[in-house]
Amino acid sequence: MLSTPYPIVDIQQIINATATIVRENSISILLTDSRQIAHPAESLFFALQGRRDGHDFIDEAYAHGVRNFVVQHIPANSYTAANFLVVPNVLRALQTLAAHHRSRFNIQVIGITGSNGKTIVKEWLYQLMASGHNIVRNPKSFNSQIGVPLSLWQIGPDHDLGIFEAGISTVGEMEALQAMIRPTIGVLTHLGSAHDEGFADRRQKVVEKLKLFKDCELIIHNADQLIEYQQELPSTARTFSWSRSKQADLQVFSETIISKRYYLRARYQGKEIECLIPFLDEASVENAITCWATLLAIGYSPVEADKRLEHLAPVSMRLEMRTGINDCSVIDDTYNSDVRSLEIALNFLQQQNQHKVHTLILSDIFQSGLQEDVLYRQVADMVKAKGVNRFIGVGEALSKHRSYFEDGPQTFFYADTADMLRHRKEINFNNEAILIKGSRSFEFERISKALSQKAHETMLEISLTGLLGNLSFYRSKLQSGVKMMAMVKAFSYGSGTFEVANILQHQKVDYLAVAYIDEGVALREADIKLPIMVLNPEPSAFDKMTEYRLEPELYSFGILDKFVRYAQQHDLKGYPVHIKIDTGMHRLGFEYAEWDMLCELLEDNPYIKVNSVFSHLVASDAEAHDDFTRKQIKAYRDAAARIEAALGHPVIKHIANTSAIMRWPDAHFDMVRLGIGLYGIDSAVPQHLNGLQPIATLKTSISQVKYITAGETVGYNRKGSLLHDGRIATVRIGYADGYLRAFGNGVGKMLVKGVLVPTVGNIAMDMCMIDVSAVEVKEGDEVIIFNEQQTIEDLAQQIGTIPYEILTNISQRVKRVYFYE
Ligand SMILES: *Cc1c(COP(=O)(O)O)cnc(C)c1O
Repeated sequence: MLSTPYPIVDIQQIINATATIVRENSISILLTDSRQIAHPAESLFFALQGRRDGHDFIDEAYAHGVRNFVVQHIPANSYTAANFLVVPNVLRALQTLAAHHRSRFNIQVIGITGSNGKTIVKEWLYQLMASGHNIVRNPKSFNSQIGVPLSLWQIGPDHDLGIFEAGISTVGEMEALQAMIRPTIGVLTHLGSAHDEGFADRRQKVVEKLKLFKDCELIIHNADQLIEYQQELPSTARTFSWSRSKQADLQVFSETIISKRYYLRARYQGKEIECLIPFLDEASVENAITCWATLLAIGYSPVEADKRLEHLAPVSMRLEMRTGINDCSVIDDTYNSDVRSLEIALNFLQQQNQHKVHTLILSDIFQSGLQEDVLYRQVADMVKAKGVNRFIGVGEALSKHRSYFEDGPQTFFYADTADMLRHRKEINFNNEAILIKGSRSFEFERISKALSQKAHETMLEISLTGLLGNLSFYRSKLQSGVKMMAMVKAFSYGSGTFEVANILQHQKVDYLAVAYIDEGVALREADIKLPIMVLNPEPSAFDKMTEYRLEPELYSFGILDKFVRYAQQHDLKGYPVHIKIDTGMHRLGFEYAEWDMLCELLEDNPYIKVNSVFSHLVASDAEAHDDFTRKQIKAYRDAAARIEAALGHPVIKHIANTSAIMRWPDAHFDMVRLGIGLYGIDSAVPQHLNGLQPIATLKTSISQVKYITAGETVGYNRKGSLLHDGRIATVRIGYADGYLRAFGNGVGKMLVKGVLVPTVGNIAMDMCMIDVSAVEVKEGDEVIIFNEQQTIEDLAQQIGTIPYEILTNISQRVKRVYFYE
């Protein structure tokens, strides 16, 4: 949103579009996602060509009141009140507009790139320089070809410094980002192997990244990692290097830990200087040194730089959802507060269909670059547009502008965080989704703590962002028009219910499938509206099933007959059902010999409507059984054709599960059924094809540490002992949580401070012991059962099972926490 909007005719000129302009409009918002419309009248929708063609969403955007569009071709439907700007390339047009906007402001701009740490360094530089500057920066990690233009669009007349990160995944991308950001100061963060796959080799990747610095006056970099690429830096710029090993502008020569802080000493301008940073891990230390070097290079005195670095706060880029008090869901996004990230968080809140009431707790917003009255009017509009029912404003500025909010949601205003907490009984939180979003100085983590259910320390963390990435990965393997059914049976393979379904619904998958009727009922009660297939519908629950509009799989004459009779008795006509064909699994489904009779029964049956005909592959992931898979596909094709002929109308045909999406592209038919791949696991996808990401982390903590001498025994039945004197730790997870007994006696391993350590003795019901002789630990320390380092596949291998079983075994006693980045 801009304080000075652009007339649409000006935009036409800037992006050099041919236009159908039917009326004058002022544009202040750039829109690339039709689901994020908040101020339609002032929005300009860019019909980008992504995984889906943006032109397909013009209808929806128009229906929501959007009247201005940048397109590649004018759509066939007539939209009489809309302005269309036609360009050859919509993404380029978006970038041209952002570049133009940027060029109107003659301010210092820091451009950050590297493989790791871009967002942290950006957020830290913001923290370090906020006092004394009015800074504009990318929201979260909006650093892509689309994210950067949206970020630049926020620059306003009151800003005097921009900090923008730029991320690329292949050659040719940085030039476009450079032309938009036009940084005056360049900062290079850690160069690692992230995204290596998009480049021919390391050199190509580094050279591409350095293109961001083309016109910089000053470049800050780590000399230890640029060694062979030094000459690739533009010769016109002043460089400021830092190093831990050799001569550099900032040469770090001593690193020690003093009372839990990292103490650095370095040579700078012939003198010895020092700094203390409140982080100990390797990545944070490196990012902090990069920030230190940047402050010095820009001209902060060593004393001032040290003072500011000492107060660095952790940056959590993720929004976190967990179970709250009184049946609430708490969405914690307490790390920052600006208009754009508020909008992102509100979109997430809006997806929480499981609660009718949506509540926002918001603090004053600092450094928006806008006048207070403009800012809070925008916030109030957004709060209304996103359907917030209860608004709790904390801070003096919000309280002062309370009148903007009062014709919409129920409102509460408090001077500060303590005041709000004192009154929380009166606010009476109950069965609602609560988004907590505050500027750091308000310490909203106190509110978050007060409203969250006390968590037992064993937790399964699910990355919803990772889940979305996995969904996109599989979608990108489908021909256009092929539908996607997401398998969310067994609590979405243990990862959640409505939390996962909400996201899938928002992503417009076509179908969900559950195993049993009550699983479907739970989703409907959380207001999931997608069609839902039930794999194993029990006749005793047909009432519930039809009441909730769940669609049964009919797999035998027995169940077909029961359901048709039920439909008849209850006067149901054309009820949607799915026919399951057995092509070799021999679990559920009509067998070959039954197909003719099945066709007869389905023909002209008024009570049911066959929405789909499907089968299931028994070994789509296994090369050894490929011949069998081919036979299954062939048999299925035959059965489906016969049923379609009998019905006289086409049905949705599907047979492919996760592994078949990758391995059997000819078997996608009209729809695929994505299961375990959604959760980041697929034995048919080689690990290095890193399109997939593990989304779950199971962690617990240490309750006690003991010293054991060699020969003493540990745990039930005296099964465990150490070979040498050593140390064991008791951790808060046992077989009742899903950490199976088979992991006992050294078979299973856990990660403690990055080190894999074995179990000792038998696993007990609620806890077990691990050998921590090799690691320094204390009570309360975190212990990881699985994450991206020790994966679910690793665990499955340790006890000779499959990842499906590991994941679905994690009991409901283990708290789920969801992240969205
Ligand atoms: C569980 C299930 C799937 C999903 O299988 P994945 O291997 O997890 O992708 C697909 N179809 C049916 C019938 C299933 O029961």
